Amino acid sequence: MSGPPPIPLSDTSFDEEVVRAASDALATGWWSTGPQVEAFEREFAAFVGSEHAVALSSGTAALHVALLATGCGPGDEVVLPSLTFVAAANVVRHVGATPVFCDIGGPDDLNLDPADVRAAVTEQTKALLVLHYAGYPCDMDALQALADERGLVLVEDAAHALGATWRGQGCGSIGAAGCFSFFANKNLPIGEGGMVVSADEAVAAKVRLLRSHGMTTMTLDRARGHAASYDVQVEGFNYRLDEVRAAIGAVQLRRLEGYNEARRRILTRYRDAIASIEGVTMPFADVPPHATSGAHLAVVVLGGGIDRDAVRERMRAAGIQTSVHYPPIHTFSTYADIRAARPLPRTEDVAGRLLTLPLFPHLRDEQVEEVLDALRAAVA
Ligand SMILES: *Cc1c(COP(=O)(O)O)cnc(C)c1O
Repeated sequence: MSGPPPIPLSDTSFDEEVVRAASDALATGWWSTGPQVEAFEREFAAFVGSEHAVALSSGTAALHVALLATGCGPGDEVVLPSLTFVAAANVVRHVGATPVFCDIGGPDDLNLDPADVRAAVTEQTKALLVLHYAGYPCDMDALQALADERGLVLVEDAAHALGATWRGQGCGSIGAAGCFSFFANKNLPIGEGGMVVSADEAVAAKVRLLRSHGMTTMTLDRARGHAASYDVQVEGFNYRLDEVRAAIGAVQLRRLEGYNEARRRILTRYRDAIASIEGVTMPFADVPPHATSGAHLAVVVLGGGIDRDAVRERMRAAGIQTSVHYPPIHTFSTYADIRAARPLPRTEDVAGRLLTLPLFPHLRDEQVEEVLDALRAAVA
């Protein structure tokens, strides 16, 4: 086959330092959770600006135990956006609680609308599970004020927002708990992995307990002679991160600022060019001066008359991979029973118009131009 080389939506890269970190971890002979994980947790907590960080096997595991550790359970309602990854609603159900979906601001602001969140709160509401969509911080002033006023737990899904800030605080460190993912396409890619951060010692201790079966000591403590036996205080999980991935994560963390700078620069290129493409807009044009974005996704919103799937097909034929973040959760079969619970007109308005363009730190300028040319041609 000839033609331009395909440009993926997201791409990983590695070099000698990453390989060495992984092989050094293997060579220690200790492969499950141990000193590499502890070091990664310490460095991660310092980076985000939180007291405690607990490494987990995935971002989904992080969300699951964050809800449990902050006291969410049967009978509770958890308010969250419908325009997020389905894992967020799944974990609400896994803890026995009910997801309550809220609307977004609109095509220019794909984050939660704090007024709709307020309208969704009932006597049963226990927590707000808020997403910083594409890495743009949501209005934490309004959401924190609502949480304080109504006695709710504020949990941040910061899977897109590692390195993003709100009033100088790292996203994820602001609420009662913050959850991160190290899936292969995230800002800090490991392959699989996650983290919960919290300023609250009790929340962090609960997450640690739940991570490893509810056991009061881990194999490492016993190997170090710190403990001979253990108690089980709660029915936990095996959600541990291993040493090899923690070692890779620590290298990636030291590079994160550079990766995020590269992502921001590419996003600015996209934004400047898209301003003159008719029928295409980029949300989040007005980031407040007290916020910085994690620049996780390059999302555009197509005009109402444009057939999104046809655009995607034309771009695919031109060698450009695109995606959709996200099909709203309330449209999935397993959430059909709560579909009609609350109208979500602004989510539904953008749902068929969202398109995600390639974005990764080593995406070259000429590739960005190729993506833009393909987009221009596809919407013309
Ligand atoms: C990636 C992601 C998750 C899940 O993380 P995994 O590590 O894949 O389990 C959850 N929420 C959002 C918004 C995500 O982007």
